[in-house]
Amino acid sequence: MRIANLGGRAKLVVAPEAALDVESATGGRFGPSPQAVYDRWDDFVAFMGGGDALDGPTEPWSAERSGPPSPTPRQVFAVALNYRDHAAESGFEAPPSPLFFTKFVSAFSGPVSDVVLPDGKVDWETELVAVVGRAARRVDPTQAWSHVAGLTVGQDLSERVLQRRGPAPQYSLGKSHEGFAPQGPFLVTPDELAAPDDLAIGCELNGTPMQSARTSDMIFPVPDLISYLSQVVTLLPGDVIFTGTPPGVGMGRDPQVFLRPGDRLVSRIEGIGELHQTFLATGG
Ligand code: ZN
Repeated sequence: MRIANLGGRAKLVVAPEAALDVESATGGRFGPSPQAVYDRWDDFVAFMGGGDALDGPTEPWSAERSGPPSPTPRQVFAVALNYRDHAAESGFEAPPSPLFFTKFVSAFSGPVSDVVLPDGKVDWETELVAVVGRAARRVDPTQAWSHVAGLTVGQDLSERVLQRRGPAPQYSLGKSHEGFAPQGPFLVTPDELAAPDDLAIGCELNGTPMQSARTSDMIFPVPDLISYLSQVVTLLPGDVIFTGTPPGVGMGRDPQVFLRPGDRLVSRIEGIGELHQTFLATGG
């Protein structure tokens, strides 16, 4: 299944430009919001029986008009230094256990957006994003995928000056400017992917490849992150997990590259889709 968010309503994307409204097509059983679907994820999957259960008139769908697949999570987690070569380019050793911060939810946006550049040095971090379906509390890694509703593409846009200000890093604030968490184009359920742990991931800046890796390069893959988090917190339906970025960010380059007004960034993950961001000057 491909679940999108159009105007705050859950849509099942059934063709490249066509979707069904979940509430209408299920006779009011599920939805109308994406969060309402995640809150009853197991029931929804059972009802759908693999995606063929819905019928009815389709409506136009486009990434441009879509919001983030999980727009109102109660918790947002992001992982630092989860790819060995990204840790190295950042000047750190690979961590012995996952490092978490948050992106505040007011930074969320849909997959196609304009982002106003704040003062400082704004960088890109293309990331696989996992959305929680069934709640998870102290789950084993072998069971963790069953708690994931699906995967989407995320950009962990990061302003490096604020991120590194002070005696200890404050990742969360420097990564939460308005528009700094685009996600989409929709949520893809893991059963749609032949190998959900091994997807090509990358981005292009003004047509030039900047990141190119595979999600199988993660130090802590999705099941390990879910299991590790769930030893401490209860993961709730709709919770969003940014799983870390591969190498090739602007800060790690020589010379360093940061986003400038007019830049166009395309981020993509195999089997899921693309994000398109255009960057604007402050006040522009
Ligand atoms: Zn990141």
